[in-house]
Amino acid sequence: MIFKANENRYEVMKYRRCGRSGIRLPEISLGLWHNFGGVDNYETGRETVLNAFDMGVCHFDLANNYGPPPGSAEITFGRIFKENLLPYRDEIIVSTKAGYLMWPGPYGEWGSRKYLIASLDASLKRMGLDYVDIFYSHRFDPDTPVEETMSALADIVRQGKALYAGISNYNADQSKQAVSVLRALGAPCLIHQANYSMLNRWTEDGLLDLLEKEGAGCICFSPLAQGLLTGRYLDGTVPQGSRASKNNFLKASSITPQLVKKLNTLNDIAKQRGMSLSALAILWILRDKRNTSVLIGASSSTQLKENLTAIAQPALSDEELKMIEGILRT
Ligand code: NDP
Repeated sequence: MIFKANENRYEVMKYRRCGRSGIRLPEISLGLWHNFGGVDNYETGRETVLNAFDMGVCHFDLANNYGPPPGSAEITFGRIFKENLLPYRDEIIVSTKAGYLMWPGPYGEWGSRKYLIASLDASLKRMGLDYVDIFYSHRFDPDTPVEETMSALADIVRQGKALYAGISNYNADQSKQAVSVLRALGAPCLIHQANYSMLNRWTEDGLLDLLEKEGAGCICFSPLAQGLLTGRYLDGTVPQGSRASKNNFLKASSITPQLVKKLNTLNDIAKQRGMSLSALAILWILRDKRNTSVLIGASSSTQLKENLTAIAQPALSDEELKMIEGILRT
């Protein structure tokens, strides 16, 4: 069946300017790190992506190594795109990254010009795209001059293989260097992709100030702490099929009684507002205008829809924020 997007798709979602760039991003974006690999169910992935697009989520985030197996999430996305979203290409921001291990040998990871350029070419092939909107250096490489990594990004932008350059997982000092080199090369840093949630607040310690000053946006990954900040683990057990049950990126051992208590106290606040814990966790991130977009994951459309209810919620009051702060500090 030919996909026809919901005509009202831009009416519910809100959009935020990404730093001082010309781009606005949806307050919630969808990432394809998990649930879209060759091992996952294609139809579930397709439904999740198309439902997201129907609800105004026009930014999809990938990386060369997403799967498993590595590369397969880009293949899945390419298929969904080709079969359904081709007429909407100009309405969509697709991002991908390179930095982590992708192929054997000395040129298969980190930040050399050789690796980044070869990796993006392979990503474009897998997705069947002529260009991505954002190409990221996925992590800072301590052994490669930042000028080399950034000039590869700038050249990629100049060649039109990516429209914008981004960095991910760079600390504040590393970001300062990267942003300054990119600016000098005429390809300003659009955005930083950083781990940020109620349970991981490192960007508050310098990075957000820097990005604001430099006019770059910030997109927050793992905003639900990989599922901890949802209803998934509130009873302290690990449901079958959940990310923690796979015990790989989210360890079952991280679900301690102390954490479960904290999650339940946060959930009480969410309940008082008639919302889910996941929506509360998203709304909390959106309290800071410097966070351009909240980059969620979802293993089903049901989860996606629950998370998107955050958009229609009134902002958290000072009193609520104070209460949450108290809980997070316990
Ligand atoms: P989240 O913190 O949003 O976790 C998503 C997972 O939480 C889902 O796959 C699901 O796991 C669970 N979940 C989500 N919503 C609900 C719900 N309503 N109820 C119950 N469970 C729910 O984000 P991710 O860790 O997946 O990261 C999001 C994106 O960020 C990635 O796809 C990627 O694009 C990007 N990212 C970037 C990184 C980087 O280095 N730049 C690193 C990591 C992520 P399940 O159902 O399987 O239990």
